[in-house]
Amino acid sequence: MEESCLFCKIARGEIPVQRLAEDEHALAFPDLRPQAKVHVLVIPKEHFASLKEAEGKWDLIGRMHALAVRVAREKGIDESGFRTVFNTGPDAGQTVFHAHLHLLGGRALGWPPG
Ligand code: AMP
Ligand code: ZN
Repeated sequence: MEESCLFCKIARGEIPVQRLAEDEHALAFPDLRPQAKVHVLVIPKEHFASLKEAEGKWDLIGRMHALAVRVAREKGIDESGFRTVFNTGPDAGQTVFHAHLHLLGGRALGWPPG
């Protein structure tokens, strides 16, 4: 845990969010600036900056995807489809340096992404 990290604060409950789904290791909550009808973030409860720092944590990365699929089902977008993505580093536009998985859906998503 990092004292001043935004997503650590959310994981600790110091910043209130709608806790859509969680287990011992990860938490799903709505993105503050949704880019699609459904835009949810799944964060690990332990701090690491990005997917690059996930060495040795691949089970956790899998659990985060499982949580995203659970939320996609609950939001009713599992049939229409959805996208899960980690932005990693400057070219991907990562702005929060506590790893997070985006779940996007509820509309047709363009490909390739901008
Ligand atoms: P990224 O650009 O991949 O680092 O994504 C960071 C995401 O965090 C953006 O989509 C933001 O809208 C979102 N975000 C930033 N602050 C908050 C917050 N307090 N609650 C929920 N989502 C947030
Ligand atoms: Zn953190």
